[in-house]
Amino acid sequence: MSDAAPFWKTKSLSEMNREEWESLCDGCGRCCLNKLEDEDTGKFLYTRTACKLLDLKTCQCTDYPNRAARVPDCVSLTPENVSKLGWLPQTCAYRLLEEGKSLAWWHPLVSGRTETVAEAGINVAGEAYSEEGITVEQLVDHIWKLPKAKRKAV
Ligand code: SF4
Ligand code: SF4
Repeated sequence: MSDAAPFWKTKSLSEMNREEWESLCDGCGRCCLNKLEDEDTGKFLYTRTACKLLDLKTCQCTDYPNRAARVPDCVSLTPENVSKLGWLPQTCAYRLLEEGKSLAWWHPLVSGRTETVAEAGINVAGEAYSEEGITVEQLVDHIWKLPKAKRKAV
């Protein structure tokens, strides 16, 4: 077994290859929730309403290859835009690494298991619902404070 440090500790976002980049996404689905920006503070508020293409059980995009065409305001993350997207969740791996922080215990690259994302309460399964039928004006009634991660079970 190699003792070499893992790629996310040694490479910048722009140095990662496609596979490494994609593996950073923990599949939490948080970025696929509708957000509101507080005009006074500039802070972003999340809602429980999810993009119509989000699978509410698996938290995966149901049409990832065609997402830009089907959801024009869906933003594809790049090494260049991560630092500019203030609405990215604090728990998002891209944001964490961009800010020089570490991945948490529950991230699949650290834990070795995708299930830990749900075990830590990070994914939106069971918490979010579809945006369909909800108007932009009604979003304020669906504001949700994203929960912090649960501690690792011992
Ligand atoms: S918030 Fe970040 S880690 Fe979670 S699904 Fe979105 S891109 Fe992936
Ligand atoms: S189109 Fe897919 S990736 Fe984009 S916000 Fe919707 S569910 Fe998420």
